Amino acid sequence: MRKIGFIGLGVMGKPMALNLLKAGHELTVYDVVPERVNELVQAGARRGSSGKDVAARSEVVITMLPNSPHVRTAVLGADGVLEGAKPGTILVDMSSIAPSASKEIAAQAQAQGVAMLDAPVSGGEPKAIAGTLAIMVGGPQETFEQVKNILAAMGSSVTRVGEIGSGNVTKLANQIIVALNIAAMSEAMVLATKAGVDPEKVFQAIRGGLAGSTVLDAKMPLALQGNFKPGFRIELHIKDMANALDTAHELGVPAPLSSIVMEIMQALKTDGKAGNDHGGIIQFYEQLAKVQVRR
Ligand code: NAD
Repeated sequence: MRKIGFIGLGVMGKPMALNLLKAGHELTVYDVVPERVNELVQAGARRGSSGKDVAARSEVVITMLPNSPHVRTAVLGADGVLEGAKPGTILVDMSSIAPSASKEIAAQAQAQGVAMLDAPVSGGEPKAIAGTLAIMVGGPQETFEQVKNILAAMGSSVTRVGEIGSGNVTKLANQIIVALNIAAMSEAMVLATKAGVDPEKVFQAIRGGLAGSTVLDAKMPLALQGNFKPGFRIELHIKDMANALDTAHELGVPAPLSSIVMEIMQALKTDGKAGNDHGGIIQFYEQLAKVQVRR
């Protein structure tokens, strides 16, 4: 069993940390919101007073934070992980951030003898609770070998995809495919509904064919109920699409479909729907066509 530090105890971080406790690891935790730390301490974790304190007491430090600036602050900032980490400590950032930020943070960590992996996840809160996330990992093979059993306590698939930054490139690819699938589903189902065909019957008729997908099966039943409770909030998907577009443009890769879905999500944000599940993209199409896709 290992001494693990965990920083960022939100929707995803809390259940992931609980699964590490369940697996028998000694856990020291920290979040800028003290109530979130209290909940983990009640479950058996030790209270960390800062990223620095957590790192000083751990062999492996895991971060699960919103975006690149939060990871920079928690790792590189005052009282951050690198102030407390001993050489030989392993840092595993499981947040979804810009691949370029992962590379930059890893270089600064490496200069202090701290090896870093970027290991973002897919699956959302239900799979974080079940310990069945898909984890996509970038970084040195030998570092990966040292922590892959720890990651297996949080995920049912743990795949090393390449060097540092490639975990987040994989996650961006995942997020582009998911966003475009939801938009395609929305466009098609609004058309079917306005044509007078029952969208539930359309769903049942096509889900076993080539148009069927995990996204369709997950999001269509909720759309039929008008249930847009998150899940994965539109504002988080906007963050991922911004990272995807920035990365694409840095590389000279035009991403026309991603930019359209980004603007659709921006319109929903202006309409007060940033806190909706990303399945709520369908509301943009419903408003344009003046029709509601409901059971
Ligand atoms: P969240 O906002 O619920 O949690 C983030 C936590 O980090 C909060 O508790 C916040 O207080 C804490 N925090 C922020 N800055 C901090 C700092 N400097 N030091 C310590 N703690 C700090 O977000 P989440 O939904 O748990 O998502 C975390 C990451 O996982 C994001 O990158 C997100 O895109 C990704 N993700 C989320 C989901 C999902 O369904 N929610 C699914 C897959 C991936």
